[in-house]
Amino acid sequence: MKRKRVVLLGATGSIGDSTLKVAHDIPERMEIVGLAANSNVEKLAIAANKTRAPAVCLVDERKIDLLRSKLEYEPKIFAGESGLCEIAKLDGADMVLIAIVGTAGLHPALDAIETGKDLAVASKEILVMAGEAVTQAAQNRGVKILPVDSEHNAIFQCLDGRTSEVRRIILTASGGPFRETPREKLEYVTVEEALKHPTWNMGPKITIDSATLFNKGLEMIEAHWLFGVGMDRVEVVIHPQSIVHSMVEFADGSTLAQLSYSNMCFPIQYAVTWPDRVANTLPPLDFSTLNKLEFAIPRYEDFPALNLARRAGEAGGTLPAVMNAANEVAVAAFLNRRIRFPQIWQTVTDVMDRHRTVAHPDLGAILAADQWARAEAARFVKL
Ligand code: NAD
Ligand code: MG
Repeated sequence: MKRKRVVLLGATGSIGDSTLKVAHDIPERMEIVGLAANSNVEKLAIAANKTRAPAVCLVDERKIDLLRSKLEYEPKIFAGESGLCEIAKLDGADMVLIAIVGTAGLHPALDAIETGKDLAVASKEILVMAGEAVTQAAQNRGVKILPVDSEHNAIFQCLDGRTSEVRRIILTASGGPFRETPREKLEYVTVEEALKHPTWNMGPKITIDSATLFNKGLEMIEAHWLFGVGMDRVEVVIHPQSIVHSMVEFADGSTLAQLSYSNMCFPIQYAVTWPDRVANTLPPLDFSTLNKLEFAIPRYEDFPALNLARRAGEAGGTLPAVMNAANEVAVAAFLNRRIRFPQIWQTVTDVMDRHRTVAHPDLGAILAADQWARAEAARFVKL
């Protein structure tokens, strides 16, 4: 089997760490040929020196000399946002794995597609903002979009290509740290409490999104685009143990699920080795300690993110991008202790209510809606 040559965008983040672990674990199947990060020079240099990736990109151009001084070999170096798009088009790469938080991964994703590389997508923002444009571009160019997000990777495994026979896609959600917190107490939860995810160890933005359930909302829209399934067939079930990563109910009423511990190395590896399964050093489930799997219906009234996401996904056009952008601004304001927890969804609701949706937007219209929503959300939270 051929070794997959992978460019990793977002190499210094939580998914970046896990991807580097997978590459180390299955060297006969995966080679890192490019690494990109925003500004963490130290961490990027360590990863580069370890993998000897032939290409490295730092978006923060002011630190390029510092990066050079820390490298123990001479890779090709790219800089800035344009460098990020260049490394996504790297000659000889088979796949670009996008693990950039926020929307900066969108342009490089389209560039990777244009040059015929498969995408492994962790950054759900890309499909939420521009699901139609990205999936269309991939289809036109004949490249694959492989999901890294654990739920979508699970669905991808269960589906095994049988999209037309699906009745429902059931995304599992841990419920986050406030799964059982009474509604009136949500007003007073702290940043520290919100950052304590019960089952997953992730970057700060997605951890707050897991507490509000906006993460699951974004994932509903992501699933809709990835698998071409209507929003009315995408559902959410609370599953506090995070062992069942999602399920697919087929036309005959049978439901398939994918199970593993909550470790992102599982979905990352499958995205890279698909359609093969390859031995690794990850721990399989131990049923002597794992004795309970629970499921419950989400508290839709207390956590409005799911209904907002359904509304955005059903309306389509620019509304999902608006929801995503307003949420990003509100999460940053919450992390900076400028707003309270419920103000995150109040901000998103306000901005969505005032948006005039553009149907079938091109990239320009999507980016304009994104900018508009950021400005409106900033005004709402009085930044
Ligand atoms: P993180 O905050 O830990 O890391 C973010 C990475 O993005 C860093 O490497 C940073 O350098 C890079 N980055 C940020 N802004 C950039 C920019 N403007 N240009 C280039 N690079 C930039 O985030 P994370 O938790 O690893 O999440 C990354 C993405 O994966 C997010 O979209 C998240 O929703 C998704 N995701 C994460 C997990 C998880 O377990 N962490 C699970 C599923 C999906
Ligand atoms: Mg997920």
